Amino acid sequence: MIETDSARKVYNEDVVAVGDVSLTVEEGDFVSVLGPSGCGKSTLLFMLGGFIEPTSGTITVNGEQVTEPDPSRGMVFQESVLFPWMTIKENITWGMKVLGVDEDERDRTAEEYIEMIGLDGFQDAYPNSLSGGMKQRAAMARVLAVNPAVLLMDEPFGALDAQTREKMQHELLDIWSQTGQTCVFVTHSIDEALYLSDKVVVLGSRPSSVEAVIDVGEHFDRPRAPEVRESETFTDLRQQIWDMIEDEVTV
Ligand code: ADP
Repeated sequence: MIETDSARKVYNEDVVAVGDVSLTVEEGDFVSVLGPSGCGKSTLLFMLGGFIEPTSGTITVNGEQVTEPDPSRGMVFQESVLFPWMTIKENITWGMKVLGVDEDERDRTAEEYIEMIGLDGFQDAYPNSLSGGMKQRAAMARVLAVNPAVLLMDEPFGALDAQTREKMQHELLDIWSQTGQTCVFVTHSIDEALYLSDKVVVLGSRPSSVEAVIDVGEHFDRPRAPEVRESETFTDLRQQIWDMIEDEVTV
């Protein structure tokens, strides 16, 4: 469904942020892009979203070249960008309103997603009165409500504490199992990538390019219980990836 063919991004004529990345993401797959800070994960994701144009190479979604952002590709960021002057429900219905969805359907869809993300009773609250995890859930609901075919997530749980992060990972899998969207998820956490994904794309940074694609789905069925992280296979895969990127991590 998503294909990058030698996609490359050079900033300021000499910073190779993404170097000739060729990737295929199958429809309905959950793919994580993993790698140390600065290896070009966000730049790659922004190119998939159509926010950044590749310097060379091509990116296609469903056979069509990506040239600009489109509502069919929803994006969730690390710091949620809810409108502070709108209630949670207004935030969630905003995208649908822009797309011309009628009010009854907007209300129905908002209710459905508010329930799905566990924010029942908070539809009339303002973002500032919610915790970080709740805000991030609402931001996710706002993107999901327009039913994008592709969900692009840039370290969406990176700003959350460890416990909330684990809970959100579990919830994301739950939501994804209901929506079946094609997901590309950027993270620098090996555990997070392994737990969530069908495939993990490991990016190296010298130069930024694909080091390996790990087929996690081959090892773990779905639905996945959090305990899968304690298994021997998980530990082996974690070590395998760590060995690949260890030299590039600066502490
Ligand atoms: P990651 O998401 O893996 O941390 P980024 O995609 O943010 O990596 O950045 C990759 C490289 O490109 C880094 O060296 C970063 O400094 C550089 N870079 C990112 N954005 C810009 C920009 N707008 N202008 C110049 N260099 C940039």
